[in-house]
Amino acid sequence: MPLSSAKHIECEIAVVGGGLVGSALAYGLAKAGAEVLLLDAGDDSFHASAGNFGLVWVQGKGLGLADYAALTRRSADLWSGFAQSLVEESGIDPGHRQTGGVKLALDEAELERYATAVRRMHNQAAPGDNDTRVLDRQAVLDLVPAAGPEVVGGTYCPHDGFADPLATLSALRRALLRSPRVRTESGLVTEVRADPGGGFRISTGDRDVQAGRVVLAAGLGNAKLAPQLGLQAPLRPERGQILVSERLPAFLDLACHTIRQTGEGTVMLGDSHEDVGFDRGTSQDVARAIARRAVRTFPRLAQARLVRQWGALRVLAPDGFPIYQESERCPGAFLVTCHSGVTLAAVHAREVAAAILAGSLSDRYPAFSAARFDEAVA
Ligand SMILES: Cc1cc2nc3c(=O)[nH]c(=O)nc-3n(C[C@H](O)[C@H](O)[C@H](O)COP(=O)(O)OP(=O)(O)OC[C@H]3O[C@@H](n4cnc5c(N)ncnc54)[C@H](O)[C@@H]3O)c2cc1C
Repeated sequence: MPLSSAKHIECEIAVVGGGLVGSALAYGLAKAGAEVLLLDAGDDSFHASAGNFGLVWVQGKGLGLADYAALTRRSADLWSGFAQSLVEESGIDPGHRQTGGVKLALDEAELERYATAVRRMHNQAAPGDNDTRVLDRQAVLDLVPAAGPEVVGGTYCPHDGFADPLATLSALRRALLRSPRVRTESGLVTEVRADPGGGFRISTGDRDVQAGRVVLAAGLGNAKLAPQLGLQAPLRPERGQILVSERLPAFLDLACHTIRQTGEGTVMLGDSHEDVGFDRGTSQDVARAIARRAVRTFPRLAQARLVRQWGALRVLAPDGFPIYQESERCPGAFLVTCHSGVTLAAVHAREVAAAILAGSLSDRYPAFSAARFDEAVA
């Protein structure tokens, strides 16, 4: 990935945004043979990709949109091979483990809500069903012996797991650095437009890029860029706070919805859903609520010291599902954005990148067109 001071750069495909979504796409595009330029505003802006919980989560995903359930399941299936390729190409292990995942209920009403969601998922049966089942307390204890006395049951999906998000991002970056087909540049893209002569012109203020095609993968930044290319990205931020404990002896090897023990022994606790605009701060009341629930679930956490807390912003479409679309007004311009960039990293690299290259993104994923928001309004 040569650094360049060139003011004018030409490339086959420019990917705007170097978070988990843009990096996975750039990686997949380069592996499929494209010459890629990855443009990113800078490390400081890796909000969601660096601040997330790291689950590769299938259960419950896609309630109300069977295509999303199927996409998520395909990505979970692809993750092991994706992780293996990253290890080989970067020397960094993204820490993926498909352990199966549990969501633990602390009272009967909560368990009934989870069970209803599982039934509804089964009723909308999609290719690649998620195989989630409801567990009573004893079945939970068989899987998670450390669960406390307040845990009444839960749900379990064998396809769930987790990855280390920072290691995944580092592995992707190093693989991109090593690829002779990828060049990365830092800079905030301020303007992107179709060139009357063909292709696209992208401006970062001090650089002018001429690209045959352009992929917008800038997370929340897509909201400003997409309309410039006739695309819609009605995205909003939603803050999630995460707490991290000191290292503890191993007690939880499964993925668990809001509590995850890392390979080093620290325990991640989270996460909140807060509508606070672009505020990435933290608050004591949310920390207390997260910690209280964690201790009720695993009483041994009562003695654990918390060592870190942060807030990060989710990238949410109005219905929470991905938007994958090629612009009708500016063919060759693509938008890719989603709420679960860790979970979907494998399918982005392996499947979505290929659809972009083939020019078939909108045909391949009609359910993820932003046109669904027009229909919702009409
Ligand atoms: C608290 C929390 C927990 C989460 N837990 C999970 C989980 O367990 N599993 C899961 O799958 N997902 C999870 N997520 C979601 C996941 O983190 C996001 O889906 C993912 O990080 C989105 O990646 P992204 O690349 O779209 O956006 P970002 O990570 O925000 O990256 C966007 C990049 O684009 C760049 N950019 C923006 N605008 C411009 C511009 N104009 N020009 C150039 N560059 C630009 C930014 O600098 C940034 O680097 C969680 C998110 C949060 C907040």
